[in-house]
Amino acid sequence: MRVNKNYASLKNNYLFATISSKVDEFKSSNPDKKLIYMGIGDITRPLCGAVVDELKKAVEDMAGPKTFKGYGPYQGYDFLRNCVCKYYNDHGAKIDPDEVFISDGAKSDCANMLDIFDNNQIILIPDPVYPVYLDTNVMAGNKVIFADATEENNFLPLPKGDLDVDVIYICSPNNPTGAVYDKKQLKLWVDYANEKGAIILFDSAYEAFIDEKTLPRSIFEIQGARTCAIEICSLSKTAGFTGTRCGFTIIPKELKRDGNIVNNMWMRHQTTSFNGVSYIIQRGAAAVFTEIGQKQVGENLLYYKKNAEIISHSMDEMKIWYTGGKNSPYIWLKCPNSMDSWEFFDLLLNDLNIVGTPGSGFGRNGQGFFRLTAFGTHQDTIEAMKRLKSFI
Ligand code: PLP
Repeated sequence: MRVNKNYASLKNNYLFATISSKVDEFKSSNPDKKLIYMGIGDITRPLCGAVVDELKKAVEDMAGPKTFKGYGPYQGYDFLRNCVCKYYNDHGAKIDPDEVFISDGAKSDCANMLDIFDNNQIILIPDPVYPVYLDTNVMAGNKVIFADATEENNFLPLPKGDLDVDVIYICSPNNPTGAVYDKKQLKLWVDYANEKGAIILFDSAYEAFIDEKTLPRSIFEIQGARTCAIEICSLSKTAGFTGTRCGFTIIPKELKRDGNIVNNMWMRHQTTSFNGVSYIIQRGAAAVFTEIGQKQVGENLLYYKKNAEIISHSMDEMKIWYTGGKNSPYIWLKCPNSMDSWEFFDLLLNDLNIVGTPGSGFGRNGQGFFRLTAFGTHQDTIEAMKRLKSFI
C-alpha cells in the first residue's frame, strides 16, 4: 500500500496554531486584560428567524409517515435550486436550475472539483488568498503558479503575459484582502480563460457583502463566462450557515473541455461520491431566499457592514493604507511603520490587547499586511479602533 506522496509537499500552516498559542500565553500572564478578537473569519450572529422557523417545520416533516424524506436528489431539491436560480437571475446572471448543484458548503466543492480535472495541470492562484486553493492542488500534485496581488495592483491581479494555464482561481470579494473585481477586470479574466481554454473557478462566498450596484456578484454577469467558468458559493457568510452547512456550485451547460460537458461530469461525480445535503438544511436554506428571509439576513449583514465601515473610517483617519472594508467583511491593512505582519500582531496583542491575523499567513505577498474582520460586536469594534487610534 502506498500513500499519496503529494501530502509530503504540503507546507504546515502554523498561522492559526501560532496565533492561538500566543493568545493563550498572553492570557495566562495577563488574566485581567480583556482581549478583542478581530481575527475571526467566522460569523457571530445567529441564524435568522425565517430560517429557524423553516428548519423546525422540516424537522416536523421528518416525523410524519407521509411527509418523511429519505435520500434526496443528488443535485439538491428543486425548491432550493429554483430559489438560487431566481436569486441569480434577479442580479443579472442568467442561469438555469439544471446548472445549480446544492452542496454542504464551498470548501468541499472547491476541493472535490479537482477530481474531474486531469492532474499535473497548471493552476493559477492569487497570492495572497484563501489557503484551501493551494493545499488542495498540492494534494492533487498539480503545478501551481501565482498571480501576484500587491499594493501596486490594489490586490487585484489581472492576466499577464502569455502563460499557458489550465485552471484560474478567482475569489471576489476576496479573502483575505477584501478587494473586489469590477466587471471590466473580470471580463479580462474571462477573455483570457476562453482564449487559453482554461477554466475559472470563481469563489463568490462573500457576494452578499457587495453593495455597489455596478460591481459583479457573480462571474455569470460577465459576457463569455458561460463557456469558461464554474462558480462556487456558500450561505456560510451570507446567512450564518458556517455551522449549518449549505452552499451551491453553478456549472453552465455550455462549459465543455476535451469534448466533455463539464456539468455532466460533475453530476456523474456527485452521483458517485455524494448523497446530498439533508432535506432539513435545504428547507432552511430556501428560507434565506424568501422576502422575509432576505430582509432578516440583510439585517445581519448590515450589522457586519457597519463594523467594516467603523474600521475603514478609522484607517482613513489614521492614514493607514488598506483594501476592503467596503463590499466586504475584511479590512486588509498595511502595517504601520514598515512593521512585518508578526511584529504588528505582537504589538496589537501585547500593547492594545487586540487579536488580528498576520497577512504573511495567506501567502508571500501578505508580508507587511494584516487582516481585521468585521464579524465581532459593534462595541468591541469601536473599542478596538479607539485603542488603535490612541496608539498610532
Ligand atoms: N471560500 C472562501 C473564500 C472562504 O473564505 C471560505 C470560508 O472562510 C470558504 C470558501 C468556505 O466556505 P464554507 O463554509 O461554505 O465551506
